This record gives sequence, structure tokens and C-alpha cells, in this order.
Amino acid sequence: MNEEKPIKNTRNKKAEESTEEADEEEKKIDTLKKAGEIAQKVKTYIKPKIQVGAMAREIISDMEKKIEELGGLCAFPVNLSINNIAAHYTSPIKDDGLKIEEEDIVKLDLGVHIDGYIVDTAFTVNFNSNEELKNIVTATETALEAVKMMIKPGVHTREIGTKIEKIIKDFNYRPIKQLGGHQIERWIVHGTKKLPNLGTQGGNEVEVGDIFAIEIFASTGLGSVHSTNTCEIYGLNPFAGRVPLRRKSSRRILGYINNNYKTLPFAERWLAEEFQIGVSFGLQELIRQGKIETHYVLSEESNAYIAQSEETVLITEEGYQQLT
Ligand code: MN
Ligand code: MN
Repeated sequence: MNEEKPIKNTRNKKAEESTEEADEEEKKIDTLKKAGEIAQKVKTYIKPKIQVGAMAREIISDMEKKIEELGGLCAFPVNLSINNIAAHYTSPIKDDGLKIEEEDIVKLDLGVHIDGYIVDTAFTVNFNSNEELKNIVTATETALEAVKMMIKPGVHTREIGTKIEKIIKDFNYRPIKQLGGHQIERWIVHGTKKLPNLGTQGGNEVEVGDIFAIEIFASTGLGSVHSTNTCEIYGLNPFAGRVPLRRKSSRRILGYINNNYKTLPFAERWLAEEFQIGVSFGLQELIRQGKIETHYVLSEESNAYIAQSEETVLITEEGYQQLT
């Protein structure tokens, strides 16, 4: 009799734990689906407004507002990248007057999160009539569709990279070696596993429950990007410990970041809406002390053009479920 009791308790506890886990998994999937629906609606809403003459700042703030209006939060600042810019441009604090010009190729990249559950999606609008760019968007979209056809539990990311590389090159473009798809984890946009655009770079296996951003870049240039000296996007360094901060504004900004963005990227412009003064100095001190990481604008060589396509999927037993 004495022995029975603890055994029974253990069983109950185990049963409870597995129900909790199942509940947690269901909540995760429901929340991701909601975030995905918001991302889709924002894309549909903004597409007609991506036009020659449109102001970048208006498009970006319009999209960010729409995400919140629909019940989500930005998982990172909306990126609007033109021509040879690959990623990480968002509007600065002070209006720089950036405008979509005739013959531009424009990438829009948005992230939505609810409670740290993130979806990440991007698309390209091409206004360039040059023959060289005729198939560039088709190339990234075709590669993305090909990945969807093969992605399932057990597939190695190297096989995926090989496929993407072949398709992009068959269209006479080049994948970008430093950029590609990635796993998404709770509160983390770029998770552990990568989905490279090159066959030489994979190193993981796709597993049930993984969330992946399938992300394709095609370039008319060398297929390589470098950091410019412009930075508008920042993020908390999760590995930094306590550091001494001299400025009061730095301490207040850090508190605000911890409360509002956690480990998700944010724009200096967002902080400026909250703190009237001292944002730049505060941010600089936090960067110097290693608390904040920088995400510089990434650029190809100046005469190159880049297209990007990206969707988020959840890996299931059968294959995947598209979230965006
Ligand atoms: Mn993205
Ligand atoms: Mn991404």
C-alpha cells in the first residue's frame, strides 16, 4: 500500500506534464497562425502602395502601424531595401527623404510577433525594365517554391542549399553567400539552424516542430554583401552580463528595451518616440559596453541588383504548414 501511492503520483504528474506540453504546443501553433494571418494582411494592404514616387518612411510606418492595428507587434523594424541594398535599411530618426525612384527594385521585409511567437516574410517589387532583371523575382520565387516541395522532417539543410543554388544559377543570378533562411525560435528571429542559399553551407537536419523562414536572395552581382556605415537597427546582446552605465538615459533606455523588445531587433526611431532626448548618446554607451548589438545596412557592390522572397513555415509530420 505504501509503495503504491508514490507510483500513482508519479504517473499523474507525468500525465499532467504531457498535457501541459500538448497545450503549450497547441498555443504555439495557434499564436503563430494568428501572427501569420496578420503578416499576410499587411502584405495585401501595402502592395498597391509600393509605387514609384512613394516615400520609404510612409510605407514603413504604414506597415508597422498596420501590424499593431491588427493585433500583432513588430518582430523587427520593417526593412525596405532598394537595388543593391540587401537588408537592414529602415527609416532613421530624422527623415532622409528616401523615395522609390523609376527603375528601382524594392524589397519589403516584415516580421510579426505575438507573445514572442514570430513570423518573418518578404517580397520584391521590381520597377526596373532592364533585361538583366527580367527574371530575378521569378528566380527567388521559383527557388522558394522548390524548397517548399522538399522541406520535411529528415531533410538536410545542405540538400536545400544545393537546390536553391542550382535554381538561382540556372536563372543566371547568384545567391548571396552571407544571407539565407533560418530557424525561428521564441523571441529569436535568427535561430540556431540555417537554411543557406548555397550547397556548401548546410549543417542541420529539419525536424518536426521547427519553424523556418525560407529566405531566398538572388543578385546580379558577386553574390556577396558588406556592411555599410549606416545603422538604424539594433538589438540586445543576450550574452552580455551586467555592465556599468554612466548615463541615466542609457539605464532608462536599457530598461525600456528589456521590457518591450527583449531580444528582438528595434529601430532607433522607435526609441525616439519614447525618449525625447538622449537616445543617440544612450544607445552609443550601450553599444560601447557591449549590451546592444548593431545591424548595419548590408550592401552588394554598387552596380548590382538584389531580389528577395521569404515565407515562414512550420514543420509537421507530413511536411510543412505555411504560416505567412
Ligand atoms: Mn525577413
Ligand atoms: Mn528572415
